[in-house]
Amino acid sequence: PPPHDPPRIHRLDESVVNRIAAGEVIQRPVSAVKELVENSLDAGSTSINVSVKDGGIKFIQVSDDGHGIRYEDLPILCERHTTSKLSAFEDLQSIKSMGFRGEALASMTYVAHVTVTTITSGQLHGYRVSYRDGVMEHEPRACAAVKGTQIVIENLFYNMIARRKSLTSSADDYPKIVDLLSRFAIHHKNHGASTADVHTVAMSSRLDAIRSVYGVSVARNLIKVEASDANSSSSIFEMDGFISDPNYSAKKTTMVLFINGLYLELYVFSSVLNRRNNKRIRRNNDKGKHTLLFFFLVSFFSCFAERLVDCTALKRAIEIVYAATLPKASKPFIYMSIMLPPDHVDVNVHPTKREVSLLNQEVIIERIQSTIELKLRNFNESSTYQEQQ
Ligand code: ADP
Ligand code: MG
Repeated sequence: PPPHDPPRIHRLDESVVNRIAAGEVIQRPVSAVKELVENSLDAGSTSINVSVKDGGIKFIQVSDDGHGIRYEDLPILCERHTTSKLSAFEDLQSIKSMGFRGEALASMTYVAHVTVTTITSGQLHGYRVSYRDGVMEHEPRACAAVKGTQIVIENLFYNMIARRKSLTSSADDYPKIVDLLSRFAIHHKNHGASTADVHTVAMSSRLDAIRSVYGVSVARNLIKVEASDANSSSSIFEMDGFISDPNYSAKKTTMVLFINGLYLELYVFSSVLNRRNNKRIRRNNDKGKHTLLFFFLVSFFSCFAERLVDCTALKRAIEIVYAATLPKASKPFIYMSIMLPPDHVDVNVHPTKREVSLLNQEVIIERIQSTIELKLRNFNESSTYQEQQ
């Protein structure tokens, strides 16, 4: 054909489409860990155990003690768009689970080898089955199993050579996974705590969690913040959390943000998550031969996690307040929990579900900015006063 003829358009192979889509949902090992832990939380687990090898590229295992998966559902478990969490579009408004797209497990099978072991309550034995490209590789095999589900992801991106190379040659995902699990672990709050006393206890234990995850130097320099906007009809929100005071110094902003949902209480069960250990393990892991264990104990009092999310606009807005209020502006540490009516949160923005947008976002952000500004100014004044004495 002459060179100026337009190229023919053809339909992509389904397997190509699926692999491209999968690579977007599972961008790196840490995305797989996030999806698996969220599934475990959605399954009502009280204990979740995460192991990774080589920053997750070689091996990721997440075991939980949740409700398990029915035998009858195993054949479609890893097909795209199969889920137990959503049936009608309208359900999205009131969704309490962290997943709902039915894409995570499917995606993993298009870019890795996935093996599921699961047992539901009252059964004498469990089942184990491996998946490839959305389908079972064989009939489920009966096996011994303890309560819940164990999912193993092996050889991530084995069929995406470039991605695999870039991930193994750059710094691996181990620190990202630690950070992710820390964010899950830090957020624990007493569900239904209404009296002042209980509230204080819940707050101080949250401070403990921050201390054990981010270290004393962070926990020592925090100010408690609270804001709400319950009377204006346009926006109803409640915010509480901790922000770093002017004595804190860091080159990068740390923001742990939770929005809505029921409460989760995750306790750091082992000391693996304390700073010193992190460093040690990180070094070992650099040599590329370490398997790690994290244990989380989810409190029995509550059953769901709040969504752990990103809201870039809010983060920027807070950074601006710090830069404007503090002369030697350090980047802030922010732990924040925001409660809003569920239909004011759009979780549908992106398939990885991390970035959210909020209804009346500007109003909320302004209110949070002014609260933080006031806190920082007050802190400056009171410490000047102390210095003079
Ligand atoms: P989603 O979480 O969006 O529903 P996933 O692909 O992550 O989609 O999971 C598909 C389905 O598999 C879930 O809806 C759930 O029913 C089931 N599932 C996945 N992981 C677990 C688990 N750890 N325990 C129990 N069920 C699970
Ligand atoms: Mg999921």
